[in-house]
Amino acid sequence: MRRRATLVLGLLVGCAQPPAKAPPPREGPFVEGREPLIRVALASLGTWEHVDVAGKGGLAVRERGGEPRATKEPYRITRQSAPVDLVPAEGVFTVAGRTYAGELLWDGARLVNRVPLENYTLGVLRGELPLKRIPPAAAGAQAIAVRSFTLSYVAQGQDLDDTTAFQCYAGMRYAPDDAHLREGVRATRGIYLALDGKPLRAYYHSTCGGHTTDVPTGLDREPSPAMRGVPCDFCAGARYWRWKSTLDAAPVLKAAALEGPLEGVEVVEKDAGGRARLVRVKAGGRETVLRASAFRLSIGPSALRSTYLLGIATEGGALRVEGGGWGHGVGLCQCGAIGLADRGRSAEEIAAYYYTGASLRRAY
Ligand SMILES: [Zn+2]
Repeated sequence: MRRRATLVLGLLVGCAQPPAKAPPPREGPFVEGREPLIRVALASLGTWEHVDVAGKGGLAVRERGGEPRATKEPYRITRQSAPVDLVPAEGVFTVAGRTYAGELLWDGARLVNRVPLENYTLGVLRGELPLKRIPPAAAGAQAIAVRSFTLSYVAQGQDLDDTTAFQCYAGMRYAPDDAHLREGVRATRGIYLALDGKPLRAYYHSTCGGHTTDVPTGLDREPSPAMRGVPCDFCAGARYWRWKSTLDAAPVLKAAALEGPLEGVEVVEKDAGGRARLVRVKAGGRETVLRASAFRLSIGPSALRSTYLLGIATEGGALRVEGGGWGHGVGLCQCGAIGLADRGRSAEEIAAYYYTGASLRRAY
């Protein structure tokens, strides 16, 4: 009783206390105050018959219903293996030649990496920003977007995978010098964007080409007041600020479900920034109007780098296209974020610029 009273008094007069230890990351619904554990299916490993998992310092093997046991040997998982949790002694494991932080779970169908959000965020930056030079403020703005995007799924109890269906996640695979990425993640630890009290599904892309766009135009999904499109010439020095490409008639005809010969493609409707909303394809005496974002994905997102279309001409049965930017154009422009960081803007200012109307919060 007496000891308890002393402790309370100590707190009241502000005596130095041992630093509060951060609570360990937890799995389950996202609650502020605690770093969540993210579940990422390692879908990018593709098809395999067996994988060998090695843990740094050894592995604790927890087969369902069995006693945990320690092993220094790699653990082999086959498609027929019973579900198992593999916990590396020193928090790092290797599977199929790739290294990850956290734990590896085999649920009988998927290999799932269970990893704290900050480690995951850094692994996504390594996958999504594999550039030589990123100012830490740009990496920080990207980290804020990655956390928000991720938490929007965690809040719904959904797992992610490591492909472009969600975000490219490279685990601990890194460039010789990625101190700038680590600094960006560290400096923005726990910071995310919220809209109406919920984590924002914060989309991002490589290069907008002059103006970002809204969610319906860029992604054909529900509008968000936090992603309406803002002017951005901060990406003007980027490799794909302007581009030219030649498209064969076949994929264009296929996208429009028409049969040749291809007579032309024109933009029917644009958004305020000049990005195409609707395009008309004419071929064989018929025409089809379709959403520009769907047209682009059908052609291939690398063949038609964006829907910011500045000139389209038919030439010898093919399509000559001039355009600007790379990606869907929604949310943060990665190359624009670098331009803003070079102009002295902070990670938080950059995030607030591209996600107008969202609020910045610190989760833990
Ligand atoms: Zn831009």
